[in-house]
Amino acid sequence: MTESVLESVLQVSQLTKIYKKQRALDSFDLSVSRGEIVGIIGPNGAGKSTLLRSIVGLTPASEKNIQLFGSVDYEALLTNRHFVGALIEAPAFVDNMSAKENMIHYALQRKVKDRGARINEVLALVGLDKTGNKKVKNFSLGMKQRLAIALTLLHDPDLLILDEPINGLDPAGIIHVRELLLKLNREKNMTILISSHILSELEHLASRFVFVNKGRKVADISSQELAHQASTYYQVQTTDNAKALDFLSQWLGQDKVAADGKELIAIYDLEVPLPEIAKRLVNEGFELLFLGSHKNDLESVFLNITEGGN
Ligand code: ATP
Repeated sequence: MTESVLESVLQVSQLTKIYKKQRALDSFDLSVSRGEIVGIIGPNGAGKSTLLRSIVGLTPASEKNIQLFGSVDYEALLTNRHFVGALIEAPAFVDNMSAKENMIHYALQRKVKDRGARINEVLALVGLDKTGNKKVKNFSLGMKQRLAIALTLLHDPDLLILDEPINGLDPAGIIHVRELLLKLNREKNMTILISSHILSELEHLASRFVFVNKGRKVADISSQELAHQASTYYQVQTTDNAKALDFLSQWLGQDKVAADGKELIAIYDLEVPLPEIAKRLVNEGFELLFLGSHKNDLESVFLNITEGGN
């Protein structure tokens, strides 16, 4: 396949999945282009697993709703699923075997071609090539997770789909898995779709964040936009916020100010010192009720986006 940032890898259109009366997914749309690392973020029960399971075919969905690598019908969707590597359910390792023995065991079951060379290559890629005879039962959770990812890489996929792969890992394990995924993206131009219910887990990994709540997509923002939302800004409250917002947008530029909830105005231009903002507002006749600086932590960004601040 040719390399292009805009090449469509995945197109999910109006995907709905209903379990009894529960809408696990509700008219869900998602486009992913080659080379992106897309984080699917949402609280427990939001529909993340249902989305990922539908894409790989573990949960039935019609070919009209899902296209992989431009597939035009069900046959093509099935064929193109071969270019996907997925870690959705924990793989069953043989605890008494080494990493390499587990890989061989799995490769035999999956009839992987040229498995000797490929296994060595993949073990080196995930950083488990020096574990020798060490049995998997003595691996840390992070090592087990990298081995699980190694299994998904055996057939050299173009798209990697990972459901909560960082869940439960210690900080060192999180860093190792994150670095591995960044390396796969950088060196192999691997497109990655990864879910988590903890935004900060994907903060230094994803290039885009798709927020899911109650089966719906509630936001789709770039990592730059997320950084913007999680950065420090000023907050102002006056007795006439609507008028103050008008004045501030004219003075500082429309993209530098916004309403922040019902009672506050956010100012993103930190170049102007706070006392000057106070002075200008007072000079213009506004009565100041509050003026300060504020930093959204990632948790509040997450809550604001998924629950609309409620
Ligand atoms: P978690 O982080 O807890 O895994 P999630 O975001 O992955 O959550 P899903 O597992 O996709 O969410 O579940 C979405 C909704 O669909 C939940 O309310 C869940 O209870 C329901 N659900 C998921 N699978 C099934 C199923 N096989 N049968 C019935 N209901 C299901």
